[in-house]
Amino acid sequence: MALDAETFDALIDTVRRFVAERLRPLEAEVEAQDAIPDDVTAEMKAMGLFGLSIAEEYGGLGLTMLEEVKVAIELGRTTPAFRSSFGTNVGIGSQGLVMAGSPEQKAEWLPRIASGEIITSFALTEPDVGSDSGAVKTKAVWDPGSGSGAGAYRLSGTKRFITNADKADLFTVMARTGDAPGGRGVSAFLVPRDLAGVSIGVPEKKMGQKGARVADVIFDDVVVPVENRLGAEGKGFKIAMRVLDRGRLHISAVCVGVAERLIADCVAYASERKQFGKPIAEHQLIQAMIADSKTEALAARALVLETAAAKDALDQAAVRGTDAPAHGKDVVMESAAAKYFASEMVGRVADRAVQIYGGAGYIADYGIERLYRDVRLFRIYEGTSQIQQLIIARETLKRGG
Ligand SMILES: Cc1cc2nc3c(=O)[nH]c(=O)nc-3n(C[C@H](O)[C@H](O)[C@H](O)COP(=O)(O)OP(=O)(O)OC[C@H]3O[C@@H](n4cnc5c(N)ncnc54)[C@H](O)[C@@H]3O)c2cc1C
Repeated sequence: MALDAETFDALIDTVRRFVAERLRPLEAEVEAQDAIPDDVTAEMKAMGLFGLSIAEEYGGLGLTMLEEVKVAIELGRTTPAFRSSFGTNVGIGSQGLVMAGSPEQKAEWLPRIASGEIITSFALTEPDVGSDSGAVKTKAVWDPGSGSGAGAYRLSGTKRFITNADKADLFTVMARTGDAPGGRGVSAFLVPRDLAGVSIGVPEKKMGQKGARVADVIFDDVVVPVENRLGAEGKGFKIAMRVLDRGRLHISAVCVGVAERLIADCVAYASERKQFGKPIAEHQLIQAMIADSKTEALAARALVLETAAAKDALDQAAVRGTDAPAHGKDVVMESAAAKYFASEMVGRVADRAVQIYGGAGYIADYGIERLYRDVRLFRIYEGTSQIQQLIIARETLKRGG
């Protein structure tokens, strides 16, 4: 259910001010400490940011996809690590549960995810399994004698590069349960961190997005009760792919926000900085870079908003039981195109920003080189650009154009 226009405008206004006045002044500190200050996390919880996408009946804000991407664009105007701290609760860490959870599972976990009381992570990638994510090797072996009576799975394997693993209380884990090849043999599980045999590796040193940590998650013969399986056996890969389809739109929106921030920074800097007796903004080769960045950011914004609105129309048609709208049965292709275009776009915008700033663009104090490093990740996680290209081509060929 969409919020009424006045409530939504108030939310956008609050987030915009929070980003500008509270978060932006902390960017250098987050970079230096590689952590989000606890008081900021508490404020983000109080604003409802951990529950943006979770239904109101579970304590979330229940935003539509269009509303969520508009909020994500605002959040993109600061260092992406702030968004990442609740990004898994809003997206990949919670949406498997939202899409495929039983009423009991939802009642048990969603209210605490929405409030930020617990942190969730999504555990698909492994040391030998990245883009070919249907090939997961982590095993969940059925053991009728384990658990509290109804049986359990014994989970063993290692997950790699898991965002927020160091803080997570609950993992959505994709593991192999059968002999069926590829994704058909994969099931999804809700695995609380406090089960015996779960351990977390040392957070990795990364190129950028300091303050957002990733680490290995190791499962050593963890007894996972059957009640913790998400959806039917063998459906875990499908659930993971649906979660990622949705997550891609959110990430695309963040890319648009960062690009808009960088363009505003470039305009301010180019208007102040003088060379050859006038502001560099008056040199037409600088204007060309600003024009290219603005055009690409506008195109990405339009694609993200249109795809989010199309997704909402599909979801509403599904709830009403009416036919899918004319634009098609799903937005898998459009979401992949948005992620591909927006993440590549923000890379180009950040590169031009370094160029417009000249030497200052390369110096840490100006913050541009930091965003340049931060945005590099958007072309890699939740499916690399190459994987988006494969999805776009596959879906386009399937649709016949
Ligand atoms: C900071 C960070 C956070 C992350 N967070 C999470 C998380 O929370 N949960 C999670 O499960 N994972 C997470 N990941 C993992 C991320 O999703 C993977 O790194 C990504 O999907 C790519 O997998 P890979 O690193 O194994 O690269 P690989 O799959 O080994 O790819 C290497 C290169 O080969 C290319 N390639 C692979 N297959 C093909 C093909 N068929 N055609 C053409 N090119 C191909 C890729 O595009 C890439 O350029 C995170 C990663 C990072 C760095």
